[in-house]
Amino acid sequence: MNKALADLVKISNVTGKDTTLVQGGGGNTSVKTADGKYMYIKASGTALKDMTKQKGWRRVRLDLVLSVIEDKSLAKLEPGKREPEVVDRLLLACDDNVSGSARPSVEAHLHAILDKCVIHLHPLVVAAYVNAKNGRAVIEKLFKKENFPPLWVPYTDPGFMLAKKIARLVGNYQKQFGKKPAVMILEKHGLFVTAETAEAALRLVRKVIKLCSSKLRKPKLRKTGPPAEKDITAAKSAIRKAVFDATGKYFPVSYFATTEPVAAFMARKDADKLLATPALNPDELVYANGSAMWIENCDVKKITRRLTSLLKKGQKPAAAFIVKGLGIFVAADKKTAPVIAEITACSVLIRIYAQKFGGILALTKRQQDFINNWEAEAFRRKLTSGETAKR
Ligand SMILES: [Zn+2]
Repeated sequence: MNKALADLVKISNVTGKDTTLVQGGGGNTSVKTADGKYMYIKASGTALKDMTKQKGWRRVRLDLVLSVIEDKSLAKLEPGKREPEVVDRLLLACDDNVSGSARPSVEAHLHAILDKCVIHLHPLVVAAYVNAKNGRAVIEKLFKKENFPPLWVPYTDPGFMLAKKIARLVGNYQKQFGKKPAVMILEKHGLFVTAETAEAALRLVRKVIKLCSSKLRKPKLRKTGPPAEKDITAAKSAIRKAVFDATGKYFPVSYFATTEPVAAFMARKDADKLLATPALNPDELVYANGSAMWIENCDVKKITRRLTSLLKKGQKPAAAFIVKGLGIFVAADKKTAPVIAEITACSVLIRIYAQKFGGILALTKRQQDFINNWEAEAFRRKLTSGETAKR
């Protein structure tokens, strides 16, 4: 097997199995071939940990992918027309023997402008900064002594405009430092590292995680016993009924054993306030329909009212619920529920950490609206819910 593909599978599997680095199907990776003609990239809808030499990736022609970013006519289109067009052009850039409907990652154009090996993750400890009001200033101080000053990317709607913006920022960075950035930190989103070899890229990931962790202390809590089974059953049925009453749709409700950070979160006096802030990043919005709902007592009518009021405001009903003293409950199909639980468990920790750096920085209403209308995210949601994509 060729080296680029072997490297891609390696960097994907190593990072993908760590849920503090990437949750659910998020994150993506790519490796360019030695001749500079092609790029192997994660396929949309595949989790990094599930990628193998046989599946979960596409090979694209670099010149065709780069021509997408350079196409000025695309920037003039409205997002509803532009994003599907970009996705189609990325699909046309595929040059491999992969059969089926797998598309290259929607961030392929962004990967194309970076160095040889690219790893994009949503690490918990990076989110502590990218979702905090003073995060940028703290990051800049933290990396001051390193020989790879990170490039901070202010929040931009995902898709084509983000790739355009990064292309411009990378160009400016190159003028200033004489090289492309090895580390990019994306506001309200995550981390990109890029290096010449797979090993160097993985080393860089570890280095960034270590630096970012150095300012954070995991909230500690005395261990309490597991909650009573009857309380869990009662909470499940209350949530199931409330979701049905508010939406008219039936969703199974799953319970996820409480981890220490979630227990620490539930013990905080400001837990409801921390969850009142909207989705932190595109993934929390797409998978969990926004932040989890905080529930102090499982009153069906009250939960129904709150879900209905979200619907009235044009928002989607929460899919995750944190019931005080019990833990995380998720109303979703079996396949998506664990992803939502993973995202929610990370989110509560990020919300605690962000307090240290000036408070939570979440998606604005306009930023949420863009993602809710974004074709590529809709596609990903379809894949995770098991529907087949037809275009
Ligand atoms: Zn991402």
